[in-house]
Amino acid sequence: MPTTTAEPAPRIAKLPPLLVNQIAAGEVVDRPNAVVKELLDNALDAGASRVRIDVELGGAQLIRVADDGHGIPADQLPLALAAHATSKLRRPDDLEAIATLGFRGEALASIASVSRLRLSSLPTVNGVRADAATQIEQSGDDVSDPTPAAHAPGTVVEVRDLFFNVPARRKFLRAASTEFGHIADTVDRLAMTHPHVGFTLTHTAESGNTRTTLDVPPNQTSRDRCVAVLGKELDEGLLEASHEDPPQQGGAKLWALLGRPEIARATTKFQYFTVNGRPVKDRQLAHAVKEAFRGLIPPDRHPVAVLQLWLDPRAVDVNVHPTKAEVRFREPSRVHGLVLAACRRCLLAHDLTPAVQWRMPDGESRTNEQEPAAAPLLTPHAGSTPPPIDHQSPATTTTDPAAFVDYFKRMNPKQKGFVFDEVKREMADDASPPPAAVPPAPIKPLPVLQVHDSFVVTQDDQGVVIIDQHALHERMMFESLRSRILDQRQPLESQRLLVPATVPGDDKRQALLETLGPLLHALGIEAEPMGPRTIAVHAFPSLLFDRKVEPAAFLDDVLDKAAQGTFDVDAMLKPADENDAHPTVLDRGLLEAALHEVLDTMSCKAAVKAGDRLTDAELAALLARRDEIERASNCPHGRPTTLRLSLADLYRQFGRT
Ligand code: ADP
Ligand code: MG
Repeated sequence: MPTTTAEPAPRIAKLPPLLVNQIAAGEVVDRPNAVVKELLDNALDAGASRVRIDVELGGAQLIRVADDGHGIPADQLPLALAAHATSKLRRPDDLEAIATLGFRGEALASIASVSRLRLSSLPTVNGVRADAATQIEQSGDDVSDPTPAAHAPGTVVEVRDLFFNVPARRKFLRAASTEFGHIADTVDRLAMTHPHVGFTLTHTAESGNTRTTLDVPPNQTSRDRCVAVLGKELDEGLLEASHEDPPQQGGAKLWALLGRPEIARATTKFQYFTVNGRPVKDRQLAHAVKEAFRGLIPPDRHPVAVLQLWLDPRAVDVNVHPTKAEVRFREPSRVHGLVLAACRRCLLAHDLTPAVQWRMPDGESRTNEQEPAAAPLLTPHAGSTPPPIDHQSPATTTTDPAAFVDYFKRMNPKQKGFVFDEVKREMADDASPPPAAVPPAPIKPLPVLQVHDSFVVTQDDQGVVIIDQHALHERMMFESLRSRILDQRQPLESQRLLVPATVPGDDKRQALLETLGPLLHALGIEAEPMGPRTIAVHAFPSLLFDRKVEPAAFLDDVLDKAAQGTFDVDAMLKPADENDAHPTVLDRGLLEAALHEVLDTMSCKAAVKAGDRLTDAELAALLARRDEIERASNCPHGRPTTLRLSLADLYRQFGRT
């Protein structure tokens, strides 16, 4: 027999239940807010109409959740604390369509294994309320016998000394205020998605002071509830969106509040996504919202967004994450499309022009984010109510595109006006109907004043309008180029180069060039390999030519961006419809993101700059076009193009109210 120096094989043994539960707790209960979440899930599953949460010392000392739900019959109290015991699932099939927040039957067992827990209930069974409440207690392995208790109908769970028997975990608890911050966030998220349930949350700090941090009544509307939780100061800045699929298409429902672009944040903290009443983190949803705001906020900002989705439980798998903080959609692209479309519709339906704010913005007391220290005096903030759309006043000849063309011809037949050229081209061949969106409040053609060769000052029916000429023109260029390529499916006008411009192009770049071929064609760029290390540009969009943009440098930049994955080359090759054997790169949606990237750069380069003096005709054309384009309120990078100084504000500032 061969001998070995290895240690004897260790013996395998079944773990004692307490240890099993503690291991489960390691995943399910990582900090106090996880306890609160599980207990609230249970209260909501029990049909509570009011829930009260009392927390001491960030939850390390006490978490008590009391609800008025259906309760637990006395004889089942011990089962409620047992692992893998639940009233919410019966058969494997049930896992396919989970309609409750809980379903694994391990939360109470896990929590009880790492704390001193008391569970007390006065149940109502078949409409009959039990005579008295009963409670049991568990501390480590010890479970007490049931004893009588006294409280209102419903259930009270008290969790004391969390992690008292898991010193490693206890050590990792942060300051009480930090832990309570997480708890408050958890309660906020659940409260926002259950507006029919009243919530009260209190915290007792080390000083012994008890503060009620949330107190919302039952039966609120979704909007009222969200505003109550988020803070009244956000109310004005929130736009409401909703959508409902017909039942035969699955009946998905979406309700959302979207923050106007100017209240976008530096972090995603103010994004609240729920699926079937369950707060989730989801990159698809976040992406859809961000995409809807594309071009309305700078890329490093995040929209304020409450997004509540209600799907057929069979359309979503909730059993994919230990704390159920993530879900998996059966049809992710459909959900993405639904959210994107609804959010986009909502944003396009509103005038997003920010108002000029006079005072420094108030500190955002509910966020920890750092705003720039020296806020500019003229800071955009939410406009009060969406301005009335005046369909009467702009009905003058000057807003008629054709009239503008004539006007220009008369005034300036020779000038190669960049604003005008582009506008003229657009007006001449823009056969597409005007966008269905509500345009921003129209601007009367006069008076118009260009100041410091950079800003255009004019008026509308609400006050004084200040326009950043570069930002607005950039948006104009962007929208017209985009619509030409995507809606009219026409490549941009291009000009042939007498001598091709050359760009370095190794194998990798030449492969990219091929992938990007249709995109470049749409943009009016003609380029092909010239030998093994070089790419030659033969044709270039006229509008970039006019602005003296270097073809080689431009293509170089596009190839760099593609190589860095700034736009998704793979997505461009995927057919939009899986059954479509011939993907066309111009398929809407697929290409939009890539096109957006390139058009961003093109529009920026082609647009008038700060410092360019504009002729009267150019000013008029700029303003006329503003009324027609979508998203005129922001440039493609998301900065505002326009600020409004309302008459009401002027009166107030001059002390004339
Ligand atoms: P799960 O919620 O996954 O079923 P839990 O361990 O959280 O598992 O709870 C176990 C069971 O205890 C639940 O299925 C439910 O029947 C009962 N229960 C827990 N909390 C409450 C409550 N607040 N009201 C009524 N029943 C409750
Ligand atoms: Mg539960």
